[in-house]
Amino acid sequence: MKVSCHCGNVQISAVSVPKEVGQCNCSICRRYAASWAYYTPQEVTVAFEREKSVYYIWGDKEVEFHRCRLCGCITHYVTTPTCDADILAINMQMAAPELLNSIPVRKIDGASY
Ligand SMILES: [Zn+2]
Repeated sequence: MKVSCHCGNVQISAVSVPKEVGQCNCSICRRYAASWAYYTPQEVTVAFEREKSVYYIWGDKEVEFHRCRLCGCITHYVTTPTCDADILAINMQMAAPELLNSIPVRKIDGASY
């Protein structure tokens, strides 16, 4: 499976199409309006055509939220070494609508944690 940001600078490929996407209501995910598909970093390749992505990190510093430096799309997040989990999540809003609409959505109540 391949997705990219709006300008095509950030290119992401994963071993498989996700079985579901997570939409979370926590303070950052609701602002990004992201639909996350969860993988291990080994299952995903992130490539850059022109510029490397930039990221935002806050709070307990367990997650880097990456965006395209050129078009600003939130493309993926990765957990940092301070996090117990080893996750690379792709923002499936970068996928073609036909693909995204074919994947079940799971609502995640991140705001309550
Ligand atoms: Zn871009």
